[in-house]
Amino acid sequence: MSDSTPVLDEAALLARIEAPAGTGREILDAATREVIGRVPVQSADELDEAVARAKAAQPGWEALGHERRSELLLLAADAIDANAEVLARLLSREQGKPLNGPNARFEVGACSAWLRTNATTVLEPEVLVDDENLHAELVYKAVGVVGAISPWNWPMMISMWQIGPSLRMGNTVVLKPSSNTPLSVLAMISIMNDVLPADVLIGIAGPGSIGGRLAAHPDVAKVMFTGSTEVGRKIIESSAGNLARLTLELGGNDAGIVLPGTDAKAIAEDLFWGAFINTGQTCAALKRLYVHDSVYDDVVDALAEIAANVPMGNGLDEDNVLGPLQNQDQFDIVKNLVEDAKAHGGRIVTGGEAAPELGELFYKATIVADVTDGVALVDEEQFGPVLPVIRYSDVDDAFARANAAEVGLGSSVWASDPDEARRHALRMQAGTVWINSHGGLHPMVPFGGTKASGYGMEFGVEGLKSVAAPQVVSGPGRKG
Ligand code: NAD
Repeated sequence: MSDSTPVLDEAALLARIEAPAGTGREILDAATREVIGRVPVQSADELDEAVARAKAAQPGWEALGHERRSELLLLAADAIDANAEVLARLLSREQGKPLNGPNARFEVGACSAWLRTNATTVLEPEVLVDDENLHAELVYKAVGVVGAISPWNWPMMISMWQIGPSLRMGNTVVLKPSSNTPLSVLAMISIMNDVLPADVLIGIAGPGSIGGRLAAHPDVAKVMFTGSTEVGRKIIESSAGNLARLTLELGGNDAGIVLPGTDAKAIAEDLFWGAFINTGQTCAALKRLYVHDSVYDDVVDALAEIAANVPMGNGLDEDNVLGPLQNQDQFDIVKNLVEDAKAHGGRIVTGGEAAPELGELFYKATIVADVTDGVALVDEEQFGPVLPVIRYSDVDDAFARANAAEVGLGSSVWASDPDEARRHALRMQAGTVWINSHGGLHPMVPFGGTKASGYGMEFGVEGLKSVAAPQVVSGPGRKG
């Protein structure tokens, strides 16, 4: 860490990013519903001005070269680490995820880890042909200004997935966080900007319409979007105007398949966290689980036992590892899907109701058995602490049902013998198939969706390519 890296307390951090007194919009603590602070509501003119500043700063940032940019990004990662606890506490209150478990501290740690990997990953020119007559290679250059738009579930980490590779490749970034969780993202950006040159990274807070204007802006060359399929489609439309390159990480309804004869106890803990990480508000969480008849009851019982005992509550309490839904809309979606599943014969094995004693937006960890395809809880993305478990008797049929979804983000196959699961992996129509786990990510392993889950890959070398413009350099071969 550099000696000059400021280490802030929460008041100092909020003072940097809050709207001037009497303006802006209140942001509430997801667990207590108390006001955390006020976020600015920025205008279309302010967005245009931010893009203009980012455009002006881009040539200088690119001209620094990979090595210097890498040094600065590593300093930015140090600055995040130096302020990790204050960021995690703000994130915990704003998003609702507990400090502990695979939640707020984990998310802040992932931000600096991803940034370090971006900063130190090298994208070498690719020699395409090198013979007597021709030497042709492919190089990757900055695209210009990247417009980034992020969601509310993993607000800081997903923003960093957009920021890190973009800056690494010499682009500048204008990022609009979700209006549900802007403070934690603006705070992270502010801390990074203590070491980055001016206007290389600009956060702009505003409603969806500001995101729409950013995506359509004539000076934005690339849009990194993570959010719903519905908004993803609007971004594709707007790219007809500016021809921006797109990375679209959209919604999912990830299926998992437990093969016949699998030991339920051995996989239960990993199944549970595959579904309930971030209280189920995770794009690539396990959202519908197909279990073979031979082990169905064992898997349901093992999951229910964990779900009934996992501590849920205010995220600042170190004991808790599940939190509230982040917002009222999402709470209503979850509640309505469970009520609908009950009405269609779903059996609530545990949970199945809100937990008002914990706070307005808490919903108990819920396992629903005896539901099947055609019920909304199975067909739609619940994005909350509820897992439908579906019985099957024919393996081919299970894969057909898993693949019937319009979306294809993640998926998983589970078996006592991982090789057996691996033999089935390619049958899944999804950007990732995990074997005996679900949702694990690594900064060097590409991640992205198929079908209505979007296109483009993030992370690793593929992720750097996706925020770059390829250029072919073609000249005489060895004969000269
Ligand atoms: P959302 O689509 O409502 O919002 C995402 C972002 O887009 C927000 O910043 C929002 O303000 C902005 N936005 C809204 N309207 C816009 C418009 N017309 N033009 C441009 N931007 C606009 O999604 P959400 O509710 O924040 O996030 C939940 C969804 O995101 C879920 O479907 C989830 O599966 C998906 N998601 C996907 C991934 C992934 O990697 N594939 C990761 C996280 C979340």
